[in-house]
Amino acid sequence: MLAAVSVRGSCHGKRLLVSPALKLKWPANANAQLGLRSRQGINLIASRLVHGDTTGHNHEPKTESIRNIGIIAHVDAGKTTTTERMLFQSGRTRHLGNVDHGDTVTDFLPLERERGITIQSAAITFNWPPSHMCPPGLEPKTINLIDTPGHQDFRYEVDRCLPILDGAVCILDSVKGVEAHTERVWQSAQLSKIPRLIFINKLDRDGASFKRSVHEIASRLATWPLLCQIPWWNKDEFTGVIDVVHELGLRFSSTGHMSITSKETIARENPALATEIEIARIRLIETLSEHDDALMDEFIEHEKDVPAGSIKRAIRRLIKDGEAKFSPVFAGASLRNIGVQPLLDAVVDYLPSPVDRPELQIIDGTKTFPFSQILEREIKKKKHSHHQSPIVAIAHVFKVVDDPRRGMMSFARVYHGALSRSNQMWNSHIHGFEKPMSLLHVSANDYHELQHLSTGQIGAMTGLKSARTGDTLITFPGHHSNAPESLRNIRIKALETPPAVAFIAIEPYTKTAGEKIQDALKKLSREDPSIRWTKDEKSEQLVLSGMGLLHLEIAQHRLRTHYKIEKESAMWGDIEVEYSESLLAPVGPHRALYDRPLRDKPGKAACTVTLEPVEARHQHESLLESCIVRDTNIFHIVIPLPADTAMKGIAFDPETVRQQLLNGAIAGLARGPRRNAPVRRCHVYIEFNPETDFFGVASTGGHITNAAIHAVRDALKEAYAKGQVGILEPFSNVHISCPEEASNSIQHDLVSGRGGQVLEVRRPDDDLSSESGIDLSKVYVPPGPYDSVQSLRGPKKAVVRMLDIIGKAPLKEMMKYDSQLRSMTGGRHSLQLDPGGFELVTGPRERALEEARL
Ligand code: GDP
Ligand code: MG
Repeated sequence: MLAAVSVRGSCHGKRLLVSPALKLKWPANANAQLGLRSRQGINLIASRLVHGDTTGHNHEPKTESIRNIGIIAHVDAGKTTTTERMLFQSGRTRHLGNVDHGDTVTDFLPLERERGITIQSAAITFNWPPSHMCPPGLEPKTINLIDTPGHQDFRYEVDRCLPILDGAVCILDSVKGVEAHTERVWQSAQLSKIPRLIFINKLDRDGASFKRSVHEIASRLATWPLLCQIPWWNKDEFTGVIDVVHELGLRFSSTGHMSITSKETIARENPALATEIEIARIRLIETLSEHDDALMDEFIEHEKDVPAGSIKRAIRRLIKDGEAKFSPVFAGASLRNIGVQPLLDAVVDYLPSPVDRPELQIIDGTKTFPFSQILEREIKKKKHSHHQSPIVAIAHVFKVVDDPRRGMMSFARVYHGALSRSNQMWNSHIHGFEKPMSLLHVSANDYHELQHLSTGQIGAMTGLKSARTGDTLITFPGHHSNAPESLRNIRIKALETPPAVAFIAIEPYTKTAGEKIQDALKKLSREDPSIRWTKDEKSEQLVLSGMGLLHLEIAQHRLRTHYKIEKESAMWGDIEVEYSESLLAPVGPHRALYDRPLRDKPGKAACTVTLEPVEARHQHESLLESCIVRDTNIFHIVIPLPADTAMKGIAFDPETVRQQLLNGAIAGLARGPRRNAPVRRCHVYIEFNPETDFFGVASTGGHITNAAIHAVRDALKEAYAKGQVGILEPFSNVHISCPEEASNSIQHDLVSGRGGQVLEVRRPDDDLSSESGIDLSKVYVPPGPYDSVQSLRGPKKAVVRMLDIIGKAPLKEMMKYDSQLRSMTGGRHSLQLDPGGFELVTGPRERALEEARL
């Protein structure tokens, strides 16, 4: 099948001997000879030939040539397999890794290999197309790809990577369609406005349905599917894909060698398929031109012969804003190497480079500004000439990992300028300079040292002592002992760390063991801020909290294997859900004057707080810029400045004081009066009046923070004394797919046995188009072999009719629910749990909780 089209011509005037069967030369008119309408065709052909010798380490690519992309999907959709195949096809690896054999590049942690799941998101860099296959005048693009975990316990790991990406590939399992976690990560990508492509994978599996997947893309993801490819079936066997844009058939050998069949050949061999290709192309052009005037003009001029390049440009324009009103759809089976090269071509062709993205937004104090406005503001102050930017580089730390050989590595994306290893970097979160020991280019567990990390690039730094996930690093021109005052607090928006829902108590047997565990916990939570820990000063008990059962199991595993904490050095409790406390009624205003020596230095400061339960109106208010939301609590800090010229005569920086008060209020809410549990859903209103609460040099940062801690704690105690502190428990959103006959008993169990609620029961293929606003009858999908003729699937077991139960239940009841469901469904179910917020515990559940504490 390899030489379905014969290719003749010259490439750089050289003959390129590729395989005995195929000699490739590339003349100027080769595209025309082949009937290809753009260079895409060249990539497509070139990429099938050789698994080249490119290393993928192009250290200084132009920013326009970078694609920072993520792979997102439900667990088991095939993210790691697809990533692995991409690396192989790009020549980055010479070995086809397999998750089932535990030898993939990206799942490199021993636990990931053991369990066959992705826990850490791994970054890999490779070039596409491989450089020696690039046609004259074109350079390969550098793809920085992040393979993310698909399990809901690691959603924070996914969410913190999303904002630094410029595009994402969403992978679906064509047997299962759009699964619950796919919907969730799709929403996260929607919030970060990341342009997306969709890859419908596993089309080789029994029961795969391209049609159902496309319909679910429309109905569940509420995005209009743009079919750039349709599957190529040979009877009921999935043999390749049809490139609708170029009207070509693409087939793949078991190692992924791609052969191309022209539309003319297809028309001779399978006239019905050729007609379907025409229909698919015209439907694509029609949809695009309804929303893109430039393409409409071309459509009027060329009708069905609109050039491929124009179609691609229109698609790029329509997905660029990241709103995902439209999503280009591709097909394949990455385990069988089907469709991987064209998917890479699509990444290069459709997803934006860093320069195509909207301008970086910077938070300064409580307001947000475009980055250019911050620069202009500084230049206007005449401190800088127009030749010298007041900010040399700015980068965002999105991940911190303790590497066994290199120590703590901080992964960052550069947004402006170039980070250099010789520069001091200002960390606006910790208010201090740090200098890295080295700058590294990272590809899974493979590292290369760099001198610079330029705009748009992703890399790692070693030797930073304090940087955490979410921090902003800035370099300034010249040498400074401190950051310029007006730039000291600027930061790139960071993801909120979600509230913990489960914890485990650790009681060290000796003091030395306790210190070792604390040290490890500090590092662990620097790596993963969704892991938190506290120490009870009286009992020396340590509490490690996180996002769920699996998350905490993995954390314990890392403490033991990576940080070498012996199991026998402490008593480890069971994993339990984390209850929290909440106000039932407003309390305050409450003024606290903190007038005590701190580290032997006398001093004082005061502030006044009012606490209120967060109601809907506060959630609305939280959208106001002056509020800070942390861990479901909302902080509103007011520092009334004297009426005459602002700041006149005030000997403090309001922004710094605001931060000190915030730190104090957060600490004050960490342990509530009722159960010593964190206080949540509290609206904290703090007023710091310079005339009455500030005492000049006597009001040190420590005193101001302590004034806020005490004011908050006292107010909480007052509320508790009045019986106005309730208990909150974490809930899960529950999505159960089960056989119809088990559905009634499961619903009954969920409601009466578990204190949950059933919100909806639906068939997996129920039409949700009314919710998405897309009329499915208008969405084009080609007929598939299974869609009309079920019998084609051969003598199979009777089809089990499945139902989806959607509801809510206390997390505590869901911790081991998967195995409990097994007895009700005989294992024929799937359970998806997502965080469902916190609910007030009342009645018998509250009494049971109180009794359990006694
Ligand atoms: P991830 O959880 O999304 O990273 O998914 P993996 O890449 O770990 O794949 C999950 C399972 O699906 C593994 O057993 C793979 O071998 C299998 N798989 C992945 N892609 C395909 C495919 O195209 N066809 C088939 N039949 N199986 C696949
Ligand atoms: Mg994976």
